[in-house]
Amino acid sequence: LRILVLGSAAGGGLPQWNCACANCSSARAGRLKPRSQSSIAASADGERWLLVNATPDVRSQIEANPQLHPRSRVRGSPIADVILTSADIDCVAGLLTLREMRSFRVHAARPVLDALARNPILRMSVTPQRALALDEPFEAAGLVVTPFAVPGKPPLWLEGEAAPDPADAIGLELRKGGRRVVYVPGCAAVTESLSSRVEGASALFFDGAFWRDDEMLALGLGERTGRAMGHVSLSGPDGALARLGGLKVGRKLLIHVNNSNPALDPTSAEAGLVRRAGFEIPEDGQEIAP
Ligand SMILES: [Zn+2]
Repeated sequence: LRILVLGSAAGGGLPQWNCACANCSSARAGRLKPRSQSSIAASADGERWLLVNATPDVRSQIEANPQLHPRSRVRGSPIADVILTSADIDCVAGLLTLREMRSFRVHAARPVLDALARNPILRMSVTPQRALALDEPFEAAGLVVTPFAVPGKPPLWLEGEAAPDPADAIGLELRKGGRRVVYVPGCAAVTESLSSRVEGASALFFDGAFWRDDEMLALGLGERTGRAMGHVSLSGPDGALARLGGLKVGRKLLIHVNNSNPALDPTSAEAGLVRRAGFEIPEDGQEIAP
């Protein structure tokens, strides 16, 4: 079981095109490594790959990782399956790049497929498609994938239009042999059922969007709390570090880290607390074989 981190940042990436916060400025100055928008690829054999989410950065993510390059002298791709964990623009906009003789199936929950079907351009980008059902395992790229609901919300572009649905935000359990990876790129709260699913996993990739809930407001970068955007913060008694840090997991990694998050600077106090809680923040292009 191989997991390739294609992008470790939240929407906008690091640096974000219109942001001059401390982290974005450091990234432009070469003091922090740039990060693209959150996505992983997973494979059982290194031949066929499952792409989880298609971000606006997908073209450069594929080019930066030879594992995903076409193998034959004609058109083709080792990407056999694509799973969309939500209908957020950051998760689906890359489908518009993955055109021209596609060879993969798109798997997503019904509310996500319905959302994409409302948009004629995106509708064409999800064929062939398969509706996945919560808690029903299926095979993709040689892995057994079990989707499960996590606390979340409909995407911003559909707020107030579509009724909230348990499948608006999902996590994935990826299995091969005795190895089990839990992938949760967006999550509004750490529940008991999530903790018990994570316990004993070979690796966990978890939503590291914000250090604190009012981070965007405090930094003058936005007007909504993390929770209102569907992300539990890392700090605090109900935060991800406190709630997940004590679990027995082979490796704990943060993904979908927003450029505002002070933990992205490895010299910060917050980065020290992340490490002390047993979490790491992977680089783009890092491959993990849990
Ligand atoms: Zn920034």
